[in-house]
Amino acid sequence: MSVRNVIIVGSGPAGLTAAIYAARANLNPLLIEGYQSGGQLMLTSEVENFPGFRDGIMGPELMAEMRAQAARFGTEIITADATQVELEGAVKKVWIDDDVYEGHTVIISTGAKARLLGLENESRLMGRGVSTCATCDGFFFGGKDIAVIGGGDSAMEEAGFLTRFANKVYLVHRRDEFRASPIMVDRAKANPKIEIIVNTVVEDVVGEDAVEGMALHNTVTGERRTIPVEGFFVAIGHTPTTALFKGQVDMKDNGYILTSENKQHQSATNIPGVFACGDVQDDWYRQAITAAGSGCQAALDAQHFLEGLEEAAEEAAAAA
Ligand code: NAP
Repeated sequence: MSVRNVIIVGSGPAGLTAAIYAARANLNPLLIEGYQSGGQLMLTSEVENFPGFRDGIMGPELMAEMRAQAARFGTEIITADATQVELEGAVKKVWIDDDVYEGHTVIISTGAKARLLGLENESRLMGRGVSTCATCDGFFFGGKDIAVIGGGDSAMEEAGFLTRFANKVYLVHRRDEFRASPIMVDRAKANPKIEIIVNTVVEDVVGEDAVEGMALHNTVTGERRTIPVEGFFVAIGHTPTTALFKGQVDMKDNGYILTSENKQHQSATNIPGVFACGDVQDDWYRQAITAAGSGCQAALDAQHFLEGLEEAAEEAAAAA
């Protein structure tokens, strides 16, 4: 089997945008999209903040459009999970079980997953009142009572942001000490629309077709109560999908892949020819549009890297 120009692992907005750019640069990319393809937008309902869709678009539909666009320009797509990688050296290897694929470059775009509480109704009502993205979904909760779960900076920031829309925001945290920075906690405490509930775990999300409330348990007093809310924002952190690359690519302390801080080749990892884009390397913005933008950067970086290989080969041939 020939050595591919580009192998892309992961098929959210980052991976698919990388595929579109690489395919339109005639690099014939191979995209290993995973069995659960499309990334986090497959779990959302309406997306109203992706430019170009003034009436909004459903998350899965947006991803289907991106996939079709990548396929249209000749991306070879395999619906399977990459199971092993070997990234050092001039020829990189990516396995799907016993099959090995070789590439001059690899683009890692395996994304991240929002952590969930693990309640059955939380998953069932995802996109129907349960959300993991305040920036994406806050707009839908104008004038409503909602909840944010968590005690970190994300929870504080999201609670504050959501008060722009909501009538009231309950901030529910399992302890009475916050992981969030004091300034963020003080800001939340000072916001008249936020009620902070501490030492409290969520035992259930209540509702048939949409969120109607949350069942709470105070772990200190033992009190149980149900509070009516129509929105339930889980802000307990994210986990990047990096197990495949551990020990091979440099990562930050929090487990996200470390990409270059150089102005040029921003998607470069510590391994020449290996690039990363989207949420697997972004612990900050985490938006579909920023992921897509970084996918474009990774494809351009891979393209420049390949051009460098060609030039070096030509120079070596001329010198011989
Ligand atoms: P985080 O700092 O890891 O905080 C997660 C929070 O969720 C913690 O309070 C944790 O509680 C709680 N939690 C975790 N699992 C839980 C569970 N199963 N049930 C209930 N609660 C649970 O995550 P983050 O807030 O997303 O922040 C991630 C990083 O981004 C941090 O470094 C943060 O500083 C940074 N960030 C900064 C800003 C800003 O400065 N503007 C904004 C957002 C994020 P415990 O404390 O009890 O463990």
